[in-house]
Amino acid sequence: MQPEDKLQQYVQQGIHGVPELKKEEKQQYLGQFRERVIKVLTQEQVLDPRYVDGMIQAFQDPRSDHLYIKTSMHSTEKEEKIISLLTTKAKKVKIPFSFMDGDAYPGKIVVVLAAKEAVDEPNIQVKASSLPLDFYQNRGKTLCKNCYQEVVQKYPQYQEEFQQAGFWHRLFGYPCPISSRHTND
Ligand SMILES: [Zn+2]
Repeated sequence: MQPEDKLQQYVQQGIHGVPELKKEEKQQYLGQFRERVIKVLTQEQVLDPRYVDGMIQAFQDPRSDHLYIKTSMHSTEKEEKIISLLTTKAKKVKIPFSFMDGDAYPGKIVVVLAAKEAVDEPNIQVKASSLPLDFYQNRGKTLCKNCYQEVVQKYPQYQEEFQQAGFWHRLFGYPCPISSRHTND
């Protein structure tokens, strides 16, 4: 840079102030630099318990330092419940959290788990369960033979989270909780 250019720059900065470092990037990540981000949730993901649980699991990451949650005047009851779940779980593991004003952060990301320093995490996507949502929400339950077999064949790693309806269940017309698989019943 020529000395005159440098002088010009100082003059410009004197007039307009020093440009904020990586302003757009920080806006995307609720005020955080990308290099500090460990995991994020988008607006869509935050309504899916598989992703929310994945984020809660990420709290165990020893680099976790702070949780940022975007809030809005227009949050639905469901969104508020999820926010309350996230903050309760964060408190349990002593991760402080901040609510960020939705108007200041118009991007799709609504939750950011951040480290104290740069960690340059290559994968900031939350790892979510591969179970279909209706199966995921009925873990621990007893399934009909067909649904149970679907778990055994497609998601064997989750097999132990379900029971198969036995003789007595079938005799008394046990209603399988996987309603999406039984629309024609
Ligand atoms: Zn079933």
